[in-house]
Amino acid sequence: MIRYTRFLMPTTKETPSDAEVVSHRLMLRAGLIRKVASGIYNYLPAGLKVLRKVERILREEMDRAGAQEVLMPSVVPSELWKESGRWDAYGKELLRFKDRADREFCLGPTHEEVVTDLIRREVRSYRQLPMNLYQIQDKFRDEIRPRFGLMRGREFFMKDAYSFDMGEEGAKESYRKMYEAYCRIFKRMGLDFRAVEADTGNIGGSSSHEFMVIADSGEDAIVSCASCDHGANVEKAECLPPTAGTAGSNGAGPARKVATPGRRTIEEVSSFLGIDPGTLIKTLLFETSAGDVAVLVSGKFEVNEIKVRNHLGAEWVRLADEARVRAVTGAPSGFAGPVGLSVRTIADRSVQAISSGATGANEKDAHLVDVVPGRDFSPEGYADLRVVSAGDPCPRCGGELRFSRGIEVGHVFRLGTKYSEAMRAVCLDADGREQVIAMGCYGIGVGRTAAAAIEQNHDGDGIVWPISIAPFEVAVIPVNVKNADVAGAAERLSSDLDARGVEVLLDDREERPGIKFKDADLVGIPVRVTLGEKNVAAGFGELRDRKSGETVRVGLSDLAESVLAMVARKKAECAA
Ligand code: ATP
Ligand code: MG
Repeated sequence: MIRYTRFLMPTTKETPSDAEVVSHRLMLRAGLIRKVASGIYNYLPAGLKVLRKVERILREEMDRAGAQEVLMPSVVPSELWKESGRWDAYGKELLRFKDRADREFCLGPTHEEVVTDLIRREVRSYRQLPMNLYQIQDKFRDEIRPRFGLMRGREFFMKDAYSFDMGEEGAKESYRKMYEAYCRIFKRMGLDFRAVEADTGNIGGSSSHEFMVIADSGEDAIVSCASCDHGANVEKAECLPPTAGTAGSNGAGPARKVATPGRRTIEEVSSFLGIDPGTLIKTLLFETSAGDVAVLVSGKFEVNEIKVRNHLGAEWVRLADEARVRAVTGAPSGFAGPVGLSVRTIADRSVQAISSGATGANEKDAHLVDVVPGRDFSPEGYADLRVVSAGDPCPRCGGELRFSRGIEVGHVFRLGTKYSEAMRAVCLDADGREQVIAMGCYGIGVGRTAAAAIEQNHDGDGIVWPISIAPFEVAVIPVNVKNADVAGAAERLSSDLDARGVEVLLDDREERPGIKFKDADLVGIPVRVTLGEKNVAAGFGELRDRKSGETVRVGLSDLAESVLAMVARKKAECAA
């Protein structure tokens, strides 16, 4: 049992001005966290309790899935990162520094290198595999825009796990086990989530899923099928090739130049020419690590830069600036087109469906019409390079795609041999031959998950924690601690519940009842017991469900049993 008077939970009425999302506001107002520097926080006692509960579920499910807990250092020597090639590739998110002997180190943002180094030293034989090592550790990433409190911090706790197998079949099985463990983990936290296909980004590897908590405030856009279980991050979401002739034509005959004074955007050009925007061949110039590339897409769609990057196998791509566009096309932006263009050109499949279209003439205030792909220009290839859009069918079953927003709380990757190859982590197989170990990596953000739970579970009065991660299960509120009967009843109930394993906050402050009720609601304690003067004198207490607001009057002798039953009911809602 914890007494509020002996507990640092500084609740506030004021809404902090720099907190943009609900979870950040409520974590501050409920006295769970305090900012130390941008993206760096103190976890106060109640906040830490929540994080520890998240961690406990993580440990239980990781252990159940056969993983072993280790703890690696936060401070990592640069040599390991140089071996993998990421010392140069990772960029400014990696916080680098030197020790007194001028040796370079970083604060680990993720631990593939450290764990691969461990495994290559300690594992020799296939008999030791499969193996899955996990840790719950403080990570540091020097994010460009730390924001939303624990959602995107710079220093944060992550559960990271790494699997090691002989061969890809085993690696797939390890991945499947983690995928299932993650589903159990987020179910146990009472979250509405979806696992979606994701891009593999700069960690590299062959396949990956993100676990998204569905919330309007989420930074990620996701699509999911209304008919099957397909889901994907919009960054990754596949588009089916268009059915033939869908994009129509804006005329026959040879390509002609027409004047389009001051018309640059898709809307301006298509309405000026009186054509369907879908028949405009939009031409975007990208600067990439593989040189300049023009990307073509139908005017009704947007180019997906991640698909472009993956298609080119480039390290990076970015939209060319005005000066570059002028240098390459000879015209200001808004008038670029593929006809006669001298840079490498690739096209989205939507362009293939345009039988005759319009496009920029690479000349100020001019466009070409009656342009026929294949006749007037030939891109080096057609591929899926666009952003999925409303009206696209599900690529698996043809069903209807729904768009929503999500918070990425977990991420599972199949890494293949990216790190084990670079760092020579090998193992002898049954025939005594050396084989490179196949790896997977699996991350869950502890603080971000807690924040996501608030985004999904709150109301006008505050947080409504799922009981499995609530800082306390029950708040016991004696409305007047100076009344000996009331105070005594509260003490007895609290110790009784405590002895039976219930986590109780006894609000023993000399505050007005209204303040105590507001704080219990703000902090989001799932069950509240109120002991009022009249009720106690008549032998009663009041039991209230934070979520539904339902209140029942219960005889003092039955009160503990009723609380236990309500707690058990709420726990059952968080069962995997
Ligand atoms: P994002 O795309 O949101 O930056 P990421 O892809 O960089 O995330 P991973 O490298 O997959 O994240 O890290 C695993 C998990 O760690 C994420 O799913 C998330 O829960 C958590 N995480 C990542 N970055 C942060 C951060 N800056 N603050 C809090 N948690 C984070
Ligand atoms: Mg990610």
